Amino acid sequence: MSEHDELIRKLDLPAKVALLTGATTFTLAPSPEIGLRELRLSDGPTGVRGLRFHGGTTVALFPNATLLSGAWSDATAYEVGTLLAEEAMAQRIHVVLGPTINLHRSPLGGRLFEAYSEDPLLTGRTAAAYVRGMQDRGVAACLKHLVANESETDRNTVDSVVDEATLRELYLLPFEIAVEDGDAWSIMAAYNDVNGQAATEQVHVNTEIVKDEWGWSGLLMSDWFATKTAGPAANGGLDLVMPGPNGPWGEALVAAVRSGEVDEATVDDHLDRLLRLAARTGALGPEKEYGTYPAPDSAERREQLTRLAAAGMTVLTNEAGALPLAEGQTVALIGRHAVQTVCMGGGSAQVHPPHQVSIAEGLTARLGDRVTVLDGVPMRTRPVPARDGFLVNPDTGEAGVAVTVLDADGETLDVRHEVDATSMVGLDDQLPRPAATVRLRGRITRGGRVQLGTIGVGAWSVTVGDKAFEYELSVSGANMGEEILSPPNRTEILEVDEGAVLEATATLRTGVGPAGQLFTGVGLFGLIAQAAERDDREVIDEAVRAAAAADVAVVVVGLTEEQETESVDKSTLHLPGAQDTLVEAVAGAARKTIVVVNAATPVVMPWRLRVDGILWAGLPGQEGGHAVAAALLGDIEPAGRLVTTFPDEDGKTPAWSVTPADGKLEYTEGTHLGYRGHFAGHAPAPAFWLGHGLGYSTWDYSDARVVTGDSPGVTVTIANTGTRASREVVQVYFRPAERDQPIRLVGWEGATVAAGESARLVVGTDRRLWRRWDTSAGQWDTLAPGGELLLARGLGDIRATLPL
Ligand code: BGC
Repeated sequence: MSEHDELIRKLDLPAKVALLTGATTFTLAPSPEIGLRELRLSDGPTGVRGLRFHGGTTVALFPNATLLSGAWSDATAYEVGTLLAEEAMAQRIHVVLGPTINLHRSPLGGRLFEAYSEDPLLTGRTAAAYVRGMQDRGVAACLKHLVANESETDRNTVDSVVDEATLRELYLLPFEIAVEDGDAWSIMAAYNDVNGQAATEQVHVNTEIVKDEWGWSGLLMSDWFATKTAGPAANGGLDLVMPGPNGPWGEALVAAVRSGEVDEATVDDHLDRLLRLAARTGALGPEKEYGTYPAPDSAERREQLTRLAAAGMTVLTNEAGALPLAEGQTVALIGRHAVQTVCMGGGSAQVHPPHQVSIAEGLTARLGDRVTVLDGVPMRTRPVPARDGFLVNPDTGEAGVAVTVLDADGETLDVRHEVDATSMVGLDDQLPRPAATVRLRGRITRGGRVQLGTIGVGAWSVTVGDKAFEYELSVSGANMGEEILSPPNRTEILEVDEGAVLEATATLRTGVGPAGQLFTGVGLFGLIAQAAERDDREVIDEAVRAAAAADVAVVVVGLTEEQETESVDKSTLHLPGAQDTLVEAVAGAARKTIVVVNAATPVVMPWRLRVDGILWAGLPGQEGGHAVAAALLGDIEPAGRLVTTFPDEDGKTPAWSVTPADGKLEYTEGTHLGYRGHFAGHAPAPAFWLGHGLGYSTWDYSDARVVTGDSPGVTVTIANTGTRASREVVQVYFRPAERDQPIRLVGWEGATVAAGESARLVVGTDRRLWRRWDTSAGQWDTLAPGGELLLARGLGDIRATLPL
C-alpha cells in the first residue's frame, strides 16, 4: 500500500511509467486524470535559472557555494534557501536542483565551485539549513549528486572506487545530514559508477542506505541523461528519469514489468514518491498560493546579494592592518578580473542575471576618482563570446547577434536576437524539426586589430569583409555534454573596419559522439569578437607605473569558467596566463599591495608572503563588485573562513589526480581528505588550512572547558581584542585516540562581538562524527574513549587542546 494508492490504481501500467520520465528538459508531465499538474524543475544552486538551459528569464545570480558556506553560518544558509525559494516561486518552479553536496576531494575538480567544502559536516550542516529555508516555503531542494561525484574527467563513465567506511563517513554523510536534519524532498543520482555499478542503479546506496536505513521518503531522479537502463535502474532505487521526453524507460520498462524483471509494486513506489513530491510542492492537491517577490535587480535583492557575498569573503593575510583600506587613499586597481570580474562558474549552475557588477564598477562607485583602473594580462585561453556591444545585430543595431536556425531543407525554424552572442540550439527551444544549420551575424563596432571567431560543433563557413574561412570544430569526445558546456572555438586575428559584418554558418553534425554526445542538432553556438590582446610586458609595465603612483595597489587575479566549470577538471592550481608575474611586478613597485583573488577554489599563490594583504573573493554573484568594495573598505566585514585547505603547490594534497586509470578513480586517501590528511602528515603543511580567515579583528581565547553530553562539547570565552566589532567562528576539532582515525571538525559556533568585549560560547559537537563504520560487522561503532578536542582558527592556529 502506498500513500497515493487510490490515485495510482486509476492508471494502467503504461500511463504510470509515462510519468516516470520527464516531459521536457525541465518539466514533468501532468496527469489530469489524477489531478497531477505539471511539475517544473530548474537548476540551482546559485540562482534559479528557469526552464531554459541558456538565455531564458533574467534571474538573480547569487554568490557561489564556497562564498555561502564560507560564512560558516546556518542562518546564512537558511536565508539563501528562502531567497532561492522566492526566485523559484516567482517562476512557478517546484524543484530547485541544488544544493551540490559532493566534497572538495582533489582541488582539481572543475565543479567544486558549486559545492560547499572538503568537510562533510560543514557541507551537511550548510545544506540542511539551505534545504530547510527553501522547503519551509514549499519549494523542493534536490541534493546532488549521489554519490562519489567529485571530479569531471570521464564523468559519465568513471567508476569511483570507494571503500564502505569512506563512503559512509565522508561522502554519504552530507546527504545523511541533509536528509535527517533538512528532510530534503529530492535527490539526484550521479553520472558516475560507484564500485562498479552505475549511481542510477545503486541498489546498495539508493535503496538499502538512503531509502531503507535513513527512512527517506523523497524522490530520486537521475542526473540529466545519466540513466542507462530500464530494469536495473528501476530496481536500483531510481524513481525518475531526466530529462524527457525520450529516455531508456518508457516501453522498455513496461516490457520489464510484463516479463517479471521489475515488480509492478516497484513502479508504484516510484510513482508514489513522485506524487508525494508533487503534493509537497503544490502540484497535486491544493494549489500553492503565490505572492509577489523582489525582482532580480530590486534594491532588496541587491542589498541581500551584496551582503551575502561580502560576508563570506575571507581575509587570508593582512600585514600591519593593510586591510581594510583607509578612506582617502588613492588606489590603483589592476587586473583583467577587475574589469571583467568572474561572478559565476560555468555549466548548468549558470544563470542569466540582470547585471554582473565588476570590481572596477564597484570600487569606482564607492571611491570615485580616487581609483585608477587598469586592465591586466589575459586569463583565458578560450576567448569569450562578444560582449560590451562589440557586435551589434546588423538588422536592428542592438548589442548582440542575429541568429537564424534552419532545417535540412533550408527552411527557417527560428530567428533570434542573442544579447550575449551565443545561442543554444535544439535542447530546450522546442523546435518543430531538428536543426541542420545555424547562421550567426554581427556588425563590428570597433575596428582595428580584432580577434574574431566562432564557438560550436560543426562545419563552419565564416566571412568578414572580403575574407573567408572554412573549418570544422568538434568536441574532444571525453565528456557528455561538451557541445553545450565547453564547446570548441576557433579565432583569427585580423585588421577589420568598423561596420564590417561577421557572418558565420555552422552545418551541424548528426549522430552520437564517443561519450554519448547528443550531436543531433544540439549545441551552443556563438560569435567571438574582441580587441586583440596587447603584449603582456606592455600591460605589466603600465600597471607598475600606476601602482607606484598610488597609495595602494589592488591587484585582482583569479580563475575563469575555463577552470571552474562543469564537465572539465583543472590540470594545475597555478593562475592562468601571466597573472603571477603581474602580481610580483606590482608588489615590487607599490607602497602597499593588496591581492583580491576572484576564484572559488584553491590557487597556488607564490607571492603570498610578498604582498600586504590577500582577500579571497570567490565568485561573488551579480553584485560582485559592490561586495568586494564593501569588503575591502570594511563596510561589511569579510568574515569568511576557508571551506577548503589550500595547498602550497600542485600535487601537495592528500588527493590529487582526477584521471581514472582503466576507467577507475580510486579514492585511496580514504577518510584522510583535505585538512585531515595534511594534519596526519599525508601531505605537507598547506598554505592555508580549512577554517582559516582573519576577519578584521584579533581574538583571545580563555577558560576553555569540555562539557559532557550526548557528544562532548566545549565552552570558551572569546575576547575581541581588535578595534572593531567582528564575527568569530569557534571551531572544534576532535582528534580520536585511535591512530587510524583522522582528526575531524565536529562543531562550530559563530558570534559577533563588539571591540573590547568578550562572549562565553557553548559549542556543541555533532554525534555523527563520533562514530566509525565497521565494515566487517556492517554497522556503526562509537569511537574509543579518549582523544582530545582542539579549539582552532583552522588547524594552523590551535588555541586550546582539551584531553577527553
Ligand atoms: C548536471 C546537473 C544539472 C543537470 C540539469 C547536469 O549536467 O550534472 O547538476 O542539474 O545537468 O541541468
